[in-house]
Amino acid sequence: MGIIEKMRLDGKKIFVTGGARGIGKSVATAFAEAGADIAIVDLDLEEAKKTARELEENNGIQSIAIKADVTNPEDVNAMIEQVLETFGRLDVAFCNAGICMNIPAEEMTYEQWKKVIDINLSGVFLTAQAAGKVMLKQGGGSIINTASMSGHIVNVPQPQCSYNASKAGVIQLTKSLAVEWAARNVRVNSISPGYIGTELTLNSPSLQPLIQQWNEMAPLGRMGKPEELQSICVYLAGDTSSFTTGSDFVIDGAFTCI
Ligand code: NAD
Repeated sequence: MGIIEKMRLDGKKIFVTGGARGIGKSVATAFAEAGADIAIVDLDLEEAKKTARELEENNGIQSIAIKADVTNPEDVNAMIEQVLETFGRLDVAFCNAGICMNIPAEEMTYEQWKKVIDINLSGVFLTAQAAGKVMLKQGGGSIINTASMSGHIVNVPQPQCSYNASKAGVIQLTKSLAVEWAARNVRVNSISPGYIGTELTLNSPSLQPLIQQWNEMAPLGRMGKPEELQSICVYLAGDTSSFTTGSDFVIDGAFTCI
């Protein structure tokens, strides 16, 4: 079997949080193209249903939509139960839901701080923990968490200390889970994208005016596209990455090199 065949995900069962749109939808599409069955997990059930339908129609795989808030342990447990009821097992978890708030540190309320940390860091912990429990029992699995280049550098000029702290937390959480679960065949890795064109960046009134500035700072002179994160996630989800765990993959067009 050639390497491309070995990288296919036929029959694997995967959930993607924040899968209705943006990076989650794009990576879920790649998983489906590689043959996996997918649960699209999102706060926005209508959009999640649309995405799941699209994946089924275009790829002949099975896809379901599940409404869940990743900050709510009951939602996360119910989501896992529904995934297991539908698919019978769980091979891959893409813990990807996240938000950003641009507020100067000295003006940020504790509630605003907590909201970002809850979704971006505690949400990844809750979903990875729930997935890990199933995978440890099954004897293996792969967890991919979405961090950010903001876990490595401080973005400018927008003030986003809670986001940066949450994403640095995701990178270290990923490494910690990878070490705890390595000997039991559950791999945990993260991706750290640079600026990617999604609703989060392109449709945010506060960020839109900054895009030109970011592009001028970027060695490639542009933002990334969600599709440019697909192949690394297919690699991490599949069996050819069996020696890859505890790693963070920066995909930023060399933004953090300078
Ligand atoms: P997006 O806003 O386009 O999509 C995020 C999705 O997550 C939405 O469908 C939203 O409904 C869902 N979501 C939000 N809160 C949720 C919750 N509590 N529970 C369940 N679902 C929830 O964003 P995106 O750009 O696709 O970002 C996806 C991930 O990638 C985030 O973790 C983000 O921090 C990270 N990221 C984005 C960029 C970028 O430039 N776009 C760069 C680096 C990292």
